[in-house]
Amino acid sequence: MNAARTYLDANATAPLRPVARNAVLAAMEQLGNPSSVHTEGRTARRIIEDARERVAALAGARPSEVVFTSGATEANNAAIAGGWDAIITSGIEHDAVLAPARARGAHLVEVPAGGDGVVDAGAVATALLSDPIVRGRVLVSVQMANNETGVVQPVAEIADFARAHGALVHTDAVQAAGRVPLSFADLGVDLMALSAHKIGGPFGVGALVVRDGFDLKRWIVGGGQERRRRAGTENVAAIAGFGAAAEAARNELAAMRRIADLRDRLEAGVRASTPDAVIIAQGSLRLPNTSAVAWPGQSAETLVIKLDLAGIAVSAGSACSSGKVGSSHVLQAMGLAPEIARSAIRVSLGWQSSEADIEAFLQAWRALASSQSRAVA
Ligand code: PLP
Repeated sequence: MNAARTYLDANATAPLRPVARNAVLAAMEQLGNPSSVHTEGRTARRIIEDARERVAALAGARPSEVVFTSGATEANNAAIAGGWDAIITSGIEHDAVLAPARARGAHLVEVPAGGDGVVDAGAVATALLSDPIVRGRVLVSVQMANNETGVVQPVAEIADFARAHGALVHTDAVQAAGRVPLSFADLGVDLMALSAHKIGGPFGVGALVVRDGFDLKRWIVGGGQERRRRAGTENVAAIAGFGAAAEAARNELAAMRRIADLRDRLEAGVRASTPDAVIIAQGSLRLPNTSAVAWPGQSAETLVIKLDLAGIAVSAGSACSSGKVGSSHVLQAMGLAPEIARSAIRVSLGWQSSEADIEAFLQAWRALASSQSRAVA
């Protein structure tokens, strides 16, 4: 990366890890369709199965439960398209869950999150117990951790209740993977979505983890790949890169304290130079790498542009990804005041983040704060 730039937008995408790059390049040289029975085909197949084991290890699942997809958007869509009569989800889900859930025509209940960023598990229970539209085959879909605030959600608790009441459970674990330990088995969920590029793997590959024995509707039909669930010749090179990134991310989990310390230092520096700044959901259980910082009176889009000009890459949340100007649906669903939601940027650290990155961010932030106070004076 350009040495003059500081990249703090890992929740949008993390830099490609060298081990993932090497795995992609090596796999691209491998001749052979993984469905072919000859030596070349079997070598390609081994690359995929090796990656499947590594991704399964990161997710705390069995290899037989991992279905490779083109990314988490496809994985979430496949989960949502499973033939449900009713879906209960939260208003803070990523659009890759909310858009298919809203488009599907199943009965839909969207529960809110509190100002602390935590999905209201009580509202999920109430919907399951007493909402008249929640009947038949019911899916509960709640993310593991939010992409804008980093707040970790009570998925195990929700899954426990949901399954006891006959519903099945999906979780979008894209942002949690590689940042907090994951155990598909212990969480008690049926479906889990993962994405390679958020953990230092390549774009365009992800996985839907499907509990063994659960007969999810096939979502792409054609050949017999991925145990007939997801037809199409596998993207061997991307899958190899995903496997390598998953293994590296899993090995680094123990070192997440380093990332949390850097994040805490950034937040302390922000509060020292702009005392009216608000760290959203700071008191909640959060991913170690994510900070949502609101600077009331500023616009998030302007802050992102000013920081970009100062060499710092951060984001203004999901509103920007769709090119719209406005505050994020996540912060709105948390019920935050409009002046907080409008002024919130997201800073997200990645595997490569260093003390120098935090210093560079704080230097740029302090320069914004002093130009702001000069403008006011
Ligand atoms: N879910 C969450 C929480 C995300 O943050 C993202 C990426 O922005 C996605 C799903 C979509 O993942 P992909 O880019 O692999 O389709």
